[in-house]
Amino acid sequence: MPVARILFPIALPEPFDYAVPDGMDVVAGSYVMAPLGKTVRNAVVWEVVGDEVGEGRTLKAVEHVYDTPPMSAAMRKFIDFTARYTVAAPGAVLAMALRARGGLQPSPRETVYTLTGQTPDRMTEARARALDAAQALCPASASAIAQEAGTSSAVVTGLAKAGALEVKRVDIDAVFAPPNGEQAGKTLTDEQALAADTLVKSVEAGGFAPFLLDGVTGSGKTEVYFEAIAATLRKDPDAQILILLPEIALTQAVLARFTERFGAPPTPWHSGLSQKERRRSWREAAHGRARIIIGARSALFLPYQKLGLIIVDEEHDGSYKQEDGVVYHARDLAVMRAKLEAAMVILASATPALETVANGESGRYSVLKLSARPGAARLPDIELVDLKRDTPERGKWLSPTLAEAMADRLARGEQSLLFLNRRGYAPLVICKSCGERLKSPGTDSWLTEHRYTGRLVCHVTGYSMARPDKCPLCGAADSLMGVGPGVERVAEEARVLLPDARIEIFSSDTARGGEATRGIVERMEAGEIDILVGTQIVAKGHNFPKLTLVGVIDADTGMKGGDLRAGERTYQLLSQVAGRAGRADDPGTAMIQTFAPESPAMQALLLGDRDGFLAIERENRAMVGMPPFGRLAALILSAPSPEAVDTFAQEIAALAPHGEGIDVFGPAPAPLSVVRGRHRRRFLIQAPRNTDLSAYMASWRKLMKVPSNARISVDIDPYSFV
Ligand code: ADP
Repeated sequence: MPVARILFPIALPEPFDYAVPDGMDVVAGSYVMAPLGKTVRNAVVWEVVGDEVGEGRTLKAVEHVYDTPPMSAAMRKFIDFTARYTVAAPGAVLAMALRARGGLQPSPRETVYTLTGQTPDRMTEARARALDAAQALCPASASAIAQEAGTSSAVVTGLAKAGALEVKRVDIDAVFAPPNGEQAGKTLTDEQALAADTLVKSVEAGGFAPFLLDGVTGSGKTEVYFEAIAATLRKDPDAQILILLPEIALTQAVLARFTERFGAPPTPWHSGLSQKERRRSWREAAHGRARIIIGARSALFLPYQKLGLIIVDEEHDGSYKQEDGVVYHARDLAVMRAKLEAAMVILASATPALETVANGESGRYSVLKLSARPGAARLPDIELVDLKRDTPERGKWLSPTLAEAMADRLARGEQSLLFLNRRGYAPLVICKSCGERLKSPGTDSWLTEHRYTGRLVCHVTGYSMARPDKCPLCGAADSLMGVGPGVERVAEEARVLLPDARIEIFSSDTARGGEATRGIVERMEAGEIDILVGTQIVAKGHNFPKLTLVGVIDADTGMKGGDLRAGERTYQLLSQVAGRAGRADDPGTAMIQTFAPESPAMQALLLGDRDGFLAIERENRAMVGMPPFGRLAALILSAPSPEAVDTFAQEIAALAPHGEGIDVFGPAPAPLSVVRGRHRRRFLIQAPRNTDLSAYMASWRKLMKVPSNARISVDIDPYSFV
């Protein structure tokens, strides 16, 4: 009996050996079921070693092999690479690839009914209704037809017996219709055609090739990468194409655009899928039948059979970094995955990350630029509103200049967008009587007032409570006061200013779920909203033709983050928001309120000088050896008491191995020092660029004995410093 080394999708350090019973067809990559402890689990064969179970060795046996085609060698290498790079257990990474219950089984089947065209001998009113319903739903189950017709299922089965309906057994999870790579796209502008040609030639040449597609919003990046997708479809009938998008950008409109361009809907993968949809998408991806898959960051871990092209759209977006469990950056791993698949990868953005730009300049990535918006559309004019001179009234947030511009747009029947990246009414609630700032229980974070729901909410843990009448500390009545602005408060101010305007709020609170989001977007598109007040949710890809004014309420907050990328992120967000104005034929204006109009970031925004901004950023980072000029890792510990976490942190600090040029800073209390009663400490590890920091962290991690009440997390290339 041969021996199979099997990896289970749980956090174990390595694969285990199992015997393969005679006649069972097991190869590297086979999806199998095997006993582990007292249970039997799904797992993947990592390799098949030797033909014989050695003398005196007793191994448990593989119990079952699934019909799903084996996981590709490139995928298994990718899982091993990710585990090593992120200092995670390979099984924990594999678990991310197997997250679709039922995907390994064939599709469940159901009985459906279609019309035969025959009229039954005996016709009743109920039968007539059922036949109408069967025609409308065709094909559908008896219960679905009965429900639609308001009859019993017996009427439907009766019609089948009478020969008026035909019974069929079909798969519940249908195969996705294949996309068409021959369909022509839009006629490209010269600049777009040049970029598209380069991509198409690279597809034809084959092999690993990373690209940065760098073009302002609306310059046609999507149209250009559509050509690369089409070329990949034409070149290889088996190649799969993955498009990664931030979760929030995965709208129906985007999916519809793919459907229109390639004549069939793409295979979706995001958190909004039902279990049935997930299992279908997973199965089709694993069998290699899904050709175009469009998904959020976790779609990178689907076990594709053969990836020909990966596109990471909005590559600078912070949501590509996963912060829980296996901590990874989907953009960086996408490049590695493409390399292992010998595939092409395109990173697209209007505001690429500094890391990506640096990779372009060093020649590691080929850079394609799109500078113009097609047609007449121009980028909006940008004005900085100096809040030191153009000061809003006390307790108000709209400067006279911005308020006037909003009134002007309303009078002209045009739309305005006010941007403030703060949910709720006020980010802080204090007691006027005792000065207490209300905090979330067991967490070092202030409560945000939400007037709309009448609640105080913690944005870190999700805790919420009804707004109390009295101060919980001193008991004073009517003494609680919201401090600072949130989108609800700015909307309130706009309502007082322009009572006739139709004003709505767009944030993750008002747009829970796709339905509500679509509702707001559609009302805005239809011109049924005059003023939209929103958080960063408004910055993404929506096209509002009558939007000619964007007002940024407070450009300075984001800058104060104190983390390495605060400036860069603010620049990206603000230029994206500003880019929402005037996408149609009207150029529009973006007014940015700031106390620091002379700062380099604001000046760069004013001049549209992204490269100038990046040049300053990179100089700052190069000076202190920060990424991409040096490497960073973080180690985060937590325990139920400050004493426990401090003792543990000191033990760990003493174990840090020596590494050439590696500096270990900490332990220090994390900025979010308590969350849900757990006390947190951080180490920051800095190393020269060419250091294998993952190997260093793994060797350190091996020395640590983690007490049962403590938790530890390694974050290579950290983006969050809280
Ligand atoms: P980006 O991805 O850079 O934001 P898109 O590809 O979404 O840009 O293009 C923005 C809008 O302009 C889309 O509605 C797109 O269909 C349209 N567009 C882009 N290029 C062309 C073109 N060559 N001809 C016609 N319409 C175009």
